[in-house]
Amino acid sequence: MGNFLFLKEVFTLNNISEFFGINVFNDSVMQKMLPNDTYQSLRNAINQGTSIDSGISDAVANAMKKWAISKGATHFTHWFQPMTGITAEKHDSFITPDDNGGVIMEFSGKELIKGEPDASSFPSGGLRATFEARGYTAWDPSSYAFVKDGTLCIPTAFCSYGGEALDQKTPMLRSMEALNRQALRIVHAFGMTDVKRVNTTVGPEQEYFLIDKHLYEKRPDLVFCDRTLIGAKPPKSQEMSHHYFGVIKPRIAAFMKELDQELWKLGVLAKTEHNEAAPAQHELAPVFTTTNIAADHNQLTMELMKKVADRHGLVCILHEKPFARVNGSGKHNNWSMSTDTGINLLKPGKNPSDNILFLLSLAAVIEAVDRHQDLLRISIASAGNDHRLGCAEAPPAIVSMFLGDELLEILEAVEQGIHHDDVKRIKMNVGADVIPYIRRDNTDRNRTSPFAFTGNKFEFRMLGSSASVSETNTMLNTMVADVLMRYADRLEKANDVNSEANAIIRDTMREHKRIIFNGDGYSEEWQLEAEKRGLLNLKSTVDALPLFSKKENIELFERHGVLNATEIHSRVDIALENYCQLLNIEALTLVGMIGRDVISGIGKHIEFLCGLTKAKQTASPDINTTEETNIIKTLSNDTNKLYTLNRTLSNAVNDAEKIPTLSDKARYYHDVILGLMEEIRIIADRDEEIVATEFWPYPTYSELLFKI
Ligand code: ADP
Ligand code: MG
Repeated sequence: MGNFLFLKEVFTLNNISEFFGINVFNDSVMQKMLPNDTYQSLRNAINQGTSIDSGISDAVANAMKKWAISKGATHFTHWFQPMTGITAEKHDSFITPDDNGGVIMEFSGKELIKGEPDASSFPSGGLRATFEARGYTAWDPSSYAFVKDGTLCIPTAFCSYGGEALDQKTPMLRSMEALNRQALRIVHAFGMTDVKRVNTTVGPEQEYFLIDKHLYEKRPDLVFCDRTLIGAKPPKSQEMSHHYFGVIKPRIAAFMKELDQELWKLGVLAKTEHNEAAPAQHELAPVFTTTNIAADHNQLTMELMKKVADRHGLVCILHEKPFARVNGSGKHNNWSMSTDTGINLLKPGKNPSDNILFLLSLAAVIEAVDRHQDLLRISIASAGNDHRLGCAEAPPAIVSMFLGDELLEILEAVEQGIHHDDVKRIKMNVGADVIPYIRRDNTDRNRTSPFAFTGNKFEFRMLGSSASVSETNTMLNTMVADVLMRYADRLEKANDVNSEANAIIRDTMREHKRIIFNGDGYSEEWQLEAEKRGLLNLKSTVDALPLFSKKENIELFERHGVLNATEIHSRVDIALENYCQLLNIEALTLVGMIGRDVISGIGKHIEFLCGLTKAKQTASPDINTTEETNIIKTLSNDTNKLYTLNRTLSNAVNDAEKIPTLSDKARYYHDVILGLMEEIRIIADRDEEIVATEFWPYPTYSELLFKI
């Protein structure tokens, strides 16, 4: 703590390098604090993903403890990512009694490697009966330990007594292995035998809202559901693009500055902070890194956003659609594959036409996305994200890919067996001599595509803002690994690797070109066109989730050792269960708001109008009070409707909870409960625009979005 205060005072922007990663047990700390041979074997394990020799764990634990204590830590925790979508920690202190009635600070290799949190309260989808509540956490040495709030946090994987994954991280690590295995075969087939590992890299851009805490606390929907369940659209929203990249308000700037500093101390490479499209909406983008580290860092980022906001009297909302009819928040998963020799397989280079490894990697992603549209859709399916997808602000629920004209032409040339001359990178003259020439990119930015090639990586834009990136990357890595496996089978048998690679690309284009769409993904024509092409359009979470456990998918994940059938079934159950629980909370919150506050708020306005009418008529019987009377009638009708709908909704929730199978229950929540909630909302929002501000029980959108 003292450490933190001290650091806060000395921070200035030009000494970032001095405090960057100051709370991380990173490579340079390890090198300094570990005996050389211990350091080397740990380093090998991290670089090559090989398992740790148990002999070194005591030495590492000891060094970690010393270092953590020097940072003011008194406790340690295994830090893991159960299927709740957030991280979990259980703190233990370092103290152990000594023989003289005092204590010593201890931390053993065993405690570093393995933890046993009582797992029964984490979702397991039936993987763990209560009588075998044991769950294990196991150290992930490839993600650095760090000190946060006086606790040494050790990134871990979380599994059941039977070894099944109970978290988001384990399958993702397995999928990174799967991709590495197959990608290595490919690069080796091209003679690049110096490559020892291929990693996937991820840079997740994170969108969020910041709302004043006092206003937030007055809205039960925000407090319980992280989104508003009612609320009329403000007269001004994002139409005028004032906010996007606009000047950042001082209070927000102070938040961003502190957030950056906190993240930097934890070694998170926060880089870009700017306002987003909607009022009160912002974005943070880090520099990309290895997938599992990026996932850990994104979790930390979300956690710190909430904490730092609180210190500034703000609340950070990570929900995908906190405000109806205002842009929602997403997360862009920028993804690529890189060798340990520093080659980005998705970097086109100067002459993409001749860069056969690049074209082959590109083809592999195209084929994978086309074959497994369902998996990408499933990986981002959540109740919150359903409100956002296809709402003229986020990609539709249809998965397609954007490549840009140039790359598409190159691939089509390969398909037709002709050579394509690379266009010279165009230099752009802005028209004023003082401004230097800038080079134009290979691809323009198509913002409407769910899966876009953006220069040297793919950007998957369907993720919801609150989601962990783990599931998406597990899917992505596994499906690309599967395609690479088939490519490698062909290449390894071929006499001429280059011509076989060309043949593979040609075959891929012939079979999978339908997934490429360079046009406007938001348009209605695309919905029709996509249907003609036979692309999936899984509109909601309840449509998407059950496909996860279809036969081909189970075979895919088992083939690569990423998930087995039991794990997949349990994941579907957990996701469906989450979906139902969330909608249950939302429905009950709405019933409470309408029943307790909204109806009485409208009533107060009716009462006021009755009084006014009476007063007017007392003053003079010929004053026309038709308008008042009409409003009184409208509002009375509306309150009657609200009474009825509220009762219906409340009964429907009771009925839902009696439905025995999860998929039927989720379907009911989607079809019946959401529909009723929408009906209620339409009336409440209409009345909000009539009822006097002083009688409306909650802060309005205008206040929430513009009062910072
Ligand atoms: P935009 O808003 O235009 O998408 P940003 O600069 O906000 O662009 O975000 C781009 C993200 O892509 C950053 O997080 C960046 O680190 C990441 N990125 C760049 N190269 C790669 C790569 N090879 N692999 C993964 N992510 C990458
Ligand atoms: Mg982006």
